[in-house]
Parts: sequence; C-alpha cells; structure tokens
Amino acid sequence: MIHDQHVHTSYSRDSKASIDEYYKLASKLGCKYFVCTDHIEFMSCFNHTDWTVDYENQDKDLERLGKTYPNVIPLKGIEMGYRKDQLHRMKALLASREFDLVNMSIHDNTEIDYYFVEHFQAHGVLETMAIYFNNMIDGLETFDDFNVLSHFDYGFKTAYLIDNTLKISQFEEYLVKVFKLLIAKKKALEVNIKVQDTINDLNHTKYFLNLYKSLGGERITISTDSHTVDTYLEGFDKYAEAAKECGFDEVCYFVKRQEYRYKI
Ligand SMILES: [Zn+2]
Ligand SMILES: [Zn+2]
Repeated sequence: MIHDQHVHTSYSRDSKASIDEYYKLASKLGCKYFVCTDHIEFMSCFNHTDWTVDYENQDKDLERLGKTYPNVIPLKGIEMGYRKDQLHRMKALLASREFDLVNMSIHDNTEIDYYFVEHFQAHGVLETMAIYFNNMIDGLETFDDFNVLSHFDYGFKTAYLIDNTLKISQFEEYLVKVFKLLIAKKKALEVNIKVQDTINDLNHTKYFLNLYKSLGGERITISTDSHTVDTYLEGFDKYAEAAKECGFDEVCYFVKRQEYRYKI
C-alpha cells in the first residue's frame, strides 16, 4: 500500500498538472487510491481573490477515471487554507460536499504571505515566525473540521532562506504547543516532502518527528504536495525511512473522513 495524500492538479490555481496523467501513474504504481487535494483559499492575501475549485468537472473526471482504471479508487480531498476572517466560508464549503480527506494549511494571514521572503524581511524573521506559529495555534484552537495539518514547517523554508543559521530547536516551545493540540484533537501531522526537499536537511525532519513522537504523537502522513505529475510519490521511501528511524511504523490515510493506517 502506498498513497500520496497531498496532490494538486490543474483544478488548483497554481498547477497545470493533468488529473488523467496522475491517475494513470497511480494505476501503474499499484496505488489503491487516488486523491486530489486542490487549493481552496478564501481571499488569498497573494492577490486578494478566492482560489476555488470547479468541483462539478472534477467529480466528472474522478468518476470517469475510476471506471477507466478500476484498480484505483477515486477519493475527494481538499487543501483548505485556514483564515480566521473566512471561518464561516470555510465551514460552509466543507459542509456542502462530502470530502474523504481535509488537509488544513497555514499559508497567510490577512497581510503576510508566509511564502515570500520579502514579507519576512519586512516584519523581521523571528517576529514573522512568531506570527506564523500563533496563526497556526489559533487555527488549531478555533477550527476542527480537518484531518491533517499540512506542512506545519512551510514558514521554515522561507525563514531558512533569509537566515540559514536558524535552527528548528529555537522554536520548540511553539512546536510543542502545535503538536500537543494535534495529539489532543487526534489529527495527523503531515511530513510534506516538498518542504523537506526544499529545506534539504534530514536533521530538521527527524527533529520534529522525534519531538512529536516524544509527546505521544502517532498519526503521520507522508505526502509530496505535487504540483506536477513527475513528483507524484517521489521521495516517499526516503521519508518513510526517516519516520521509521524516529519510531513510526505506520502512516494514516483517510476515506470518508475516517482514519485508517498502513505499514511503512
Ligand atoms: Zn500548501
Ligand atoms: Zn499543497
């Protein structure tokens, strides 16, 4: 069993990847499931517009592909960007459709986009990381309708670009708060391969996995966050190995919002 649970297709505003090509590859690799988790971002601070998904056509594609490749079961996923000021819209969208999997992400607040170096420079790196973590903690405390916290270390990749002397251990106090909330709420922590590969330091990955484990964390996912077909499931083995070294021998997956696990 192998299953990539963070995948963007051309239904995401920032991807041109063909859902047909992904599905074909999932079938070739022997995947039991295929899930796309395209972006919903309400009033993205990047351009102050909504990032939405054409679910009507996506559903038609998934149904058609499920028939073409009957060995792969189509699942409906989403990457929902958390925004406190858009909470009512987030809840309404999730109530309007039956998802199998909800990944929650922290990409921005109303004015800072955690992707951009310039935004970190304008506010200061440590100051922006504090805002970032408080944003995440706020999301975990006020929002509950999700299964997985995606790329909790998204802000790190930007911070490290400005100051490569920063260490993840400097932020342990915040990490402990985030992980304790995830554990209490029984939500999974994502090992985001795209972020790990950008940071390119297994010490970073193992540090947070060990910390999460030491606090009693047992729910992880390992996913690529692919925006192009060529990276689908790429690097899974490497990070599964790292996870095993930190004491994890299974990963979670979700069908109809229910949690299941498989061995790694
Ligand atoms: Zn994301
Ligand atoms: Zn993503």
